[in-house]
Amino acid sequence: MDVSPAPVDLPEPKRLGVLSRLAPEPMKVVLNWGRRYSLWVFNFGLACCAIEFIAASMARHDFIRLGVIPFAPGPRQADLMIVSGTVTDKMAPAVKRLYEQMPEPKYVISFGACSNCGGPYWDSYSVTKGVDQIIPVDVYVPGCPPRPEALLQGILKLQEKIARESLGERYATPSVTQLTSGLVTPPKPGGTA
Ligand code: SF4
Repeated sequence: MDVSPAPVDLPEPKRLGVLSRLAPEPMKVVLNWGRRYSLWVFNFGLACCAIEFIAASMARHDFIRLGVIPFAPGPRQADLMIVSGTVTDKMAPAVKRLYEQMPEPKYVISFGACSNCGGPYWDSYSVTKGVDQIIPVDVYVPGCPPRPEALLQGILKLQEKIARESLGERYATPSVTQLTSGLVTPPKPGGTA
């Protein structure tokens, strides 16, 4: 008589092979919980909005209480990049390069109208019409400039997103395809854009 246990009917792995289906749900919850409350932030301050970011990091608003650790020494130590200010076509390659230097899993908050869409300079020959043209953005914070409270709200939204996240699904859609979108072509000297 065959007494071997019946095979467990596990759901088919969606993306990452057998390991993803064997990872227990409580473990994913714990990992997401740790990830959302230990966001070492790299501030890419490019203009006036960066002042509001700094205000959000100070004692009055104090985003450390939300689990955001300010001022990573560089992108290689950072989990979260906050782009605050006007991204120009000349600066855009540097933003993209530093984003690529961040280890996975990594997140981006676009803080303010300029980094969302170009802001007051949307029709300028030299301004990138949104940082999402060059890197993927997780949360957009509107305003010119947004108040520090708006950044706190954006951080909470990001943490909600991380709490629901499945890393298997995250890496199934390669962010590389988004990163390979071309940069905004800078205008030719003496010519039109
Ligand atoms: S959105 Fe407004 S405050 Fe922020 S960088 Fe642009 S112009 Fe300055």
